Amino acid sequence: MPLYRDVGVVLRTHKLGESDRIVTLITQDSGKVRAVAKGIRKTTSKFGSRLEPMSHVQVQLYRGRELDIVNQVELVEVASSTRAHLEATTDGLAMCEVVEQLAHDRSPSPHLYRMLVGALRQLNVAYSELLLPAFQLRLLEEDGVGPRVDRCVVCDATEDLVAIDVQAGGVQCRQHRRGVSVSVQALSVLKDVLNGRIVSLLNRPNLPVETVREVVSYGRSAMEHHLERRIRSSSLFEAPRA
Ligand SMILES: [Zn+2]
Repeated sequence: MPLYRDVGVVLRTHKLGESDRIVTLITQDSGKVRAVAKGIRKTTSKFGSRLEPMSHVQVQLYRGRELDIVNQVELVEVASSTRAHLEATTDGLAMCEVVEQLAHDRSPSPHLYRMLVGALRQLNVAYSELLLPAFQLRLLEEDGVGPRVDRCVVCDATEDLVAIDVQAGGVQCRQHRRGVSVSVQALSVLKDVLNGRIVSLLNRPNLPVETVREVVSYGRSAMEHHLERRIRSSSLFEAPRA
């Protein structure tokens, strides 16, 4: 079996047999990889706790037909603040889950790896509820389906934008409203996120709780809508099972 090295982030793990785990990673050069970590659930495991979800690791793997086998693991970064903070952990795991669903097996997607590393690092430095929706919206943009937030999706009006609709792909004016109401403040946050001004946004003090909630809720529903559509459209092309 050929041996290779890569860096990656652990997205999820699940138990295999008595003492092993299957670890899913997004790697820099090989895309999404699933690998068996043998003996990892024994107290004497040479992997220790390095292969937990959100861990940023350097790995050495044996290439297998379907599953690779983990040979060595070294930690690149430890997200210790995130792990000590329940909300940050929840959001970090949600970021990993989205990447797991968007990435394809062994299909290199270095931007997904880089974006996840950046988002998890930011989460570890200073937690903000806006990091998860910002990450989701940037991923949608990368996939070419970022929401339009500066003009009505129907008539291009730039004023009196009062609603936002995940199915329509953005904001709507009063005349064409179908989606949920959106506040002026939430729209301004969405614009900052989509224009890459996340850091200045995070430094903006005293954003109202309701505004943050609107943005969090929009990020989640926009991503859910995108993933469902992708899952549906890929199943159309799947060969019928015998
Ligand atoms: Zn309109």
